[in-house]
Amino acid sequence: MIKTEKILHLKSCRGRKVRVVREHYLRERVPCYSGVCQADCVNDGKVLPEDLTHYVVPDVGVVVDYLEILEFRELQGIVFTQTACQAVQHSKGRRQYNRLRNLLKDPRHDCVLFANEFQEYSYCLREKGESQEKWQTRCVYSAAVWYYNHLAGMMDIVMITEDQEAVAQYSCLNSGVYVISVQEYLQNFWPELQAAHELYSSISQALQEKEGEGKEKEYAEHLPAEVLEAGIKSGRYIQGKLKVSKHRPQTEAFVMMEGFSNKSTETGWRVLVHGDKNRNRATDTDVVVAELLPKSEWRWRATALTEGQGEEKSGEDNGSKALPTGRIVGILQRNWRDYVVTFPPREGTQSQSRNSQRILAVPWDHRIPKIRISTQQADALQDHRVVVRIDSWESTSFYPNGHSVRVLGRAGELETEVQTILIENCINELLFSDAQLRELPANSLDNPWKVDPAQEAERRDLRESHLVFSIDPKGCEDVDDTLSVRSLAGGEVLELGVHIADVTHFVTEGSLTDLEARSRATTYYLADRRYDMLPAVLSADLCSLLGGVDRYAMSVLWELDAHTLNVKDVWYGRTIIRSSYQLHYELAQALLGGERAEVPELAQLGPDEKEAKLAQLTRALKMLTDVGRHLRAQRDRGGALELEGLEVRAQLDEERNITALVPRQPLEVHETVAECMIYANHWVARKIQEIFPHQALLRCHPHPQQELFGQLVEVARAKGFTIETGTNKALADSLDQAVDPQDPLVNRLLRMMTTQAMPQALYFSTGAQSRDQYYHYGLALDRYTHFTSPIRRYADIIVHRLLIAAIAMETGAGPGKALASNKELQEMARHINQRNLAAKQTQKLSIELFQCLYFKERDPQTDERCVADAVIYSILDDGVLAFVPEYGARAPVYMKNREGQVVSAGQDGSCEWQSGSVRRYPDRVTTTSSRGTSTFRLFDHITVRISVQSTHCHADRLNFEVISNKPYHSAGSQQPRSQGRSQLVQEVVRLAEEAYQQAQEKAARRPRFSTEEREFCQSKTPNLYSLLEEVRELALMDLEMVPQVCATTA
Ligand SMILES: [Zn+2]
Repeated sequence: MIKTEKILHLKSCRGRKVRVVREHYLRERVPCYSGVCQADCVNDGKVLPEDLTHYVVPDVGVVVDYLEILEFRELQGIVFTQTACQAVQHSKGRRQYNRLRNLLKDPRHDCVLFANEFQEYSYCLREKGESQEKWQTRCVYSAAVWYYNHLAGMMDIVMITEDQEAVAQYSCLNSGVYVISVQEYLQNFWPELQAAHELYSSISQALQEKEGEGKEKEYAEHLPAEVLEAGIKSGRYIQGKLKVSKHRPQTEAFVMMEGFSNKSTETGWRVLVHGDKNRNRATDTDVVVAELLPKSEWRWRATALTEGQGEEKSGEDNGSKALPTGRIVGILQRNWRDYVVTFPPREGTQSQSRNSQRILAVPWDHRIPKIRISTQQADALQDHRVVVRIDSWESTSFYPNGHSVRVLGRAGELETEVQTILIENCINELLFSDAQLRELPANSLDNPWKVDPAQEAERRDLRESHLVFSIDPKGCEDVDDTLSVRSLAGGEVLELGVHIADVTHFVTEGSLTDLEARSRATTYYLADRRYDMLPAVLSADLCSLLGGVDRYAMSVLWELDAHTLNVKDVWYGRTIIRSSYQLHYELAQALLGGERAEVPELAQLGPDEKEAKLAQLTRALKMLTDVGRHLRAQRDRGGALELEGLEVRAQLDEERNITALVPRQPLEVHETVAECMIYANHWVARKIQEIFPHQALLRCHPHPQQELFGQLVEVARAKGFTIETGTNKALADSLDQAVDPQDPLVNRLLRMMTTQAMPQALYFSTGAQSRDQYYHYGLALDRYTHFTSPIRRYADIIVHRLLIAAIAMETGAGPGKALASNKELQEMARHINQRNLAAKQTQKLSIELFQCLYFKERDPQTDERCVADAVIYSILDDGVLAFVPEYGARAPVYMKNREGQVVSAGQDGSCEWQSGSVRRYPDRVTTTSSRGTSTFRLFDHITVRISVQSTHCHADRLNFEVISNKPYHSAGSQQPRSQGRSQLVQEVVRLAEEAYQQAQEKAARRPRFSTEEREFCQSKTPNLYSLLEEVRELALMDLEMVPQVCATTA
């Protein structure tokens, strides 16, 4: 080993130059991580494949500025030098450095790190007078040469650099080591990778523009990190996550403090930040440091529907106090993500900048400020939605600077809008890669999948002994749960079985499929399509517990006392099953009801055999129903809540059950199946928690905060009902009582409001919470987890692995592979929770998109479908929020317009605009004009006209105009709402397809912006997935009022 000195000239974060001398040790052997290695390097970990034409070694400048391009998975054989990595760390900060490290770790990316500065023959001493940049480039070149020699000339090496002098200087020195520019590299090696070319030109534009910015300060400088830290410690500053108001994104934002209960009781849990100067360049979700302003400068938050009204109300007016108000002095962590922006029309809001290529793009998300983009495509991209990234936001710049990443398409087109929703929720790259698909087992006609004899020996074989069947919605492909029930010991024992798809048998931990599923965390359901967590060969075939075929399963079998149904014994383990019947809900219910229903599996049999089999199946269904009723009653006694959309019902229905959409006649068999699944989840939770008390993945549903029930209680009282919120039992009972026989919608709305006041159910690691926090409030169970849907939820995959490890521990075999630590598991839980929230948000937005596209096609003045019955569910200062059951849509109804006129109802109920005034009461809004006083109460049915408010840069919104304060009656309004819903989706899809066809025909005339279209679409089957979740998301309360929202999104 050779010792030498390394002299570094670093720039401190405040721009000061620092000279650092370090002892530096050189070695002869430094691993190359190449599959071509001839020198027996110890290459543990990721290794570059042999079958490439070349390896590419990016120069420091390329890694620092163009890392995004190197992130394309298509690019293979990338060698990152230590020199370049350190440069990223020094010049770009921790976030970018972590990004690079993650890239190096990720097996889906074909790149490695070479410790060139420790390699005796590749390290270069810095020469006197040599600039840092020149020296770094020389180091990287030297590393490239080392590779060529080390691999004995068997692999060509391409060094890419943006330094033209380096190209001239080095390109002729060694044959086999090529030095070219990034642009040249992309053109020669990746001519088809259009996205990379576009990204390259967009980043280089942005870099050019960055030079020559103005000097005048628009914002205060951020304080240095040490000062912020000291300030937080001393209590002078407050740290938290910035949450920008959805309704007043320009002026209102809050710093949400974490763990607000313990300190600064005076300020509470959030600090208002008013105006963009005080916000000081922080963007939504950044971790910021704020300073409180003097109390005299504290402000109120606005509550009016229309901007500018009721903004400056005084404290007495609504009885509330001014909020602690502050200004942001520093940013601890930027949480910039990919943003979708719209390029403005040329004549529109152009920046007055000297360069006509710089434009201000408007983010789709209202909460994000305009982003300045330098581009040569400003004309071509007018009215297009484009994905951009923010590069920087200097104090001298009024807007942040960014660059475009890719073009989604023309604003307003279905595919563009769907992709926009996905990207805004950080759902990217929804394609399964070839490498990943190669991992999967095949199942084709020539090469059918078979049960492996080794597995047959290891698993409990239930194929002959058990009558296994599934009950799902019609047309369900991914069957992840099946049931069995039989009578044992002469009728004294009843054995109940839940058999779940054995996904972890096929998805090995750490495999590419596993990593992909983990990063997706869930299947995403949109109004017209879904994006699966697992590839179809697993989700719809090998893991799916289809009828009549052998499948692997994870089973839980309970032996219950036939009389008391108490549990005598539980068995957990891997099994082989063959499901006999793939029933759907209606069929199962018909069999239970004694109807003569045709069971497809029995169609070919003779009458006697058919009769016998049918009797056997019906008997099993009846036994199951008894068990289900018993289990349900048990939980009811514990205080389980029946909330629409809460897990009680949604557990099974969550992603599949259409029938639960029709709330009037839920089939009992739904509940029966749901109860069995809840039971299995509960017993698996018990098992893994007992064996792994500090590292099991469970799901809790925290006790709701009493104060959040305020609105619910008040609203119910207005209707003459008392809601008790003390315990879940009391709440469940009082909700059952709150029924208006005239209007079933009242009870539904109250239940939805209850759901809104509830915290989210969350996954957690048992080591991260105390035992009393494990409780699941909604289900009234002391422990709960997700085990029954491994095909579409990653949490269940983790739980399956834990259960297998637990069984192994019990048999004394040890857990096998090292389990995730409590910390790792908690990190995973956070990721899954966050992805679930994104999935819900995506679904909600996609449903709203379809609603808008549907109404956009109609003329609200003439089309009768635009007039509907609506019910008022919330009161605001100058209007109400209303819900239209027919379309499952909600929107504000303004009682006052911009001209200051108010809605005034005549004798017959018909409304018109008149000059007058509005007044708000807790349970009603009244308007007064020359025609008299009109009142709009909570739960009143009114007639609204639905139209679409188009904003071009953002999502369209529905607008309800009240046309009568009386309910709407028409012949068509009696049909079930869900029917209207699926028709709505189908019609929008049909129109979009027509438009797509037309566009294809016109494509010759148009540039190729539609290439990205449909790229991510995996399954286009219209998904009839329930409204249930959407109804649950129905925001009956302003979510920003709910403190735990920030905790769950964190
Ligand atoms: Zn080697």
